[in-house]
Amino acid sequence: MKKQVYLYDTYEKKVKEFKPLRDDEVDIYYCGPTVYNYVHLGNFRPTITFDLLTRFLTEIGYEVKCVSNYTDIDDKIIKEAQKEHKTEKELSSFYIKAYEDCLNKLNILPLYDHPKASEYIDKMANFIQQMLDNDTAYRTKDDIYFRVSKIKNYGTLSNQNIDDLEAGKRIDVNSQKENSLDFALWKLTDDDGIKFDTILGRGRPGWHTECVVMVNNVFHQPLIDIHGGGFDLKFPHHENEIAQSEAINHTRLANYWMHVGFLLTNGVKMSKSLGNSILAKDVLNRFSGNAVRLFFLSTHYRAPINYTEENLQAAEKQFNRYYQTLNKAIHQLDLHNLTCEGLRSEYYEEFMDALAHDLNVSNAIAVIDRLTKELNGLMMKKDKDYDQISSLTFTYQKLLTILGFKLEIKHLTDEDKRIYNLYQEAREKKDYETSDKYRSHILELGIL
Ligand code: AMP
Ligand code: ZN
Repeated sequence: MKKQVYLYDTYEKKVKEFKPLRDDEVDIYYCGPTVYNYVHLGNFRPTITFDLLTRFLTEIGYEVKCVSNYTDIDDKIIKEAQKEHKTEKELSSFYIKAYEDCLNKLNILPLYDHPKASEYIDKMANFIQQMLDNDTAYRTKDDIYFRVSKIKNYGTLSNQNIDDLEAGKRIDVNSQKENSLDFALWKLTDDDGIKFDTILGRGRPGWHTECVVMVNNVFHQPLIDIHGGGFDLKFPHHENEIAQSEAINHTRLANYWMHVGFLLTNGVKMSKSLGNSILAKDVLNRFSGNAVRLFFLSTHYRAPINYTEENLQAAEKQFNRYYQTLNKAIHQLDLHNLTCEGLRSEYYEEFMDALAHDLNVSNAIAVIDRLTKELNGLMMKKDKDYDQISSLTFTYQKLLTILGFKLEIKHLTDEDKRIYNLYQEAREKKDYETSDKYRSHILELGIL
């Protein structure tokens, strides 16, 4: 029996016991970036959250298939490509590469798949044709639209009723839509932007269709376990994905809809369009990937976080304390030719219970903080209990790894050990002149 897990589902607006569709496997899809620019730091909050969820579910025995897409067909990409005199493909490939550099620095696990919208165009056209055939979509002169009135539960995810939504949306006088809420599935166009010849005619897909088709095709099934993204995607993007899934497959696409809170700058959502973005690549040039991860993990994934330099500096400092504690413990064990082993279940269980409750990272990090203190206390003692140091170090390293930190452990070399012994011998002989010669090397290793 696997550990019980509880997750907040935005669709049902409550924390629910997690029951995967299959016994041993969990499918996760979260919406990735539109690659027309360097992404800002906020774009990595969903990435880090679903990476943590993947690591946690893997730890309790699931095979996790975590997938995120690249939106590489979009009007913003066309506009930017034209401005830079590049093809859309050249532009998006460049920014995908920049995004992947950040994924690497943040120690994000390799995804099961990283589909690009441009690779699924025919599948999208077929999907839209099915909606035309069953009357949930209609053609106008310039576009193909989804007929929202066909979907009884439209608005459930974002907790809005159709009348309110309609009242809030004025229909553009030039629009050929039947209803203000109807959304574009396919733009029939022969303009200068990227376009495809398909059974629907020449044109390109709308964003909401891209994701639902990628979900269906990557997982080869109409319903998956978890679909996620930032809070901003609840409406209209995810609502519209669900509407299309209902129209074709009569499912809500995912059993759990998870939405991640915003990264804010001065209390306002960090966003490319608001011009208050801090680019992820710039932050990752100044702070370690571990510090950025810890900065995000310090707040529950559904709550907002404020970006400040001080918060990141504090995260860097806190992570350094973890890292130094771990290295020092490993070096103390190295000096006695001991390895770290033996899981301390009291810490492990408390830590895993915290994560099992809708990823309560604050409680999980509180366990790490207690371990840090205890391990440092043990290492300062004159008569050291190496069994305890060994099991605590093993547990500490394991918990830090589950949170996804990249731990570059440097074991002591034979030369390091030789110098340490010379240092100790000199001190025992009260030959401080000699011991001082070795002191700086020993300090560098972090053993003292
Ligand atoms: P976009 O490229 O704008 O479609 O965003 C890609 C992903 O980043 C989506 O899951 C968004 O919801 C998420 N996102 C965008 N801005 C923020 C933010 N300020 N805080 C957290 N997540 C964000
Ligand atoms: Zn999406």
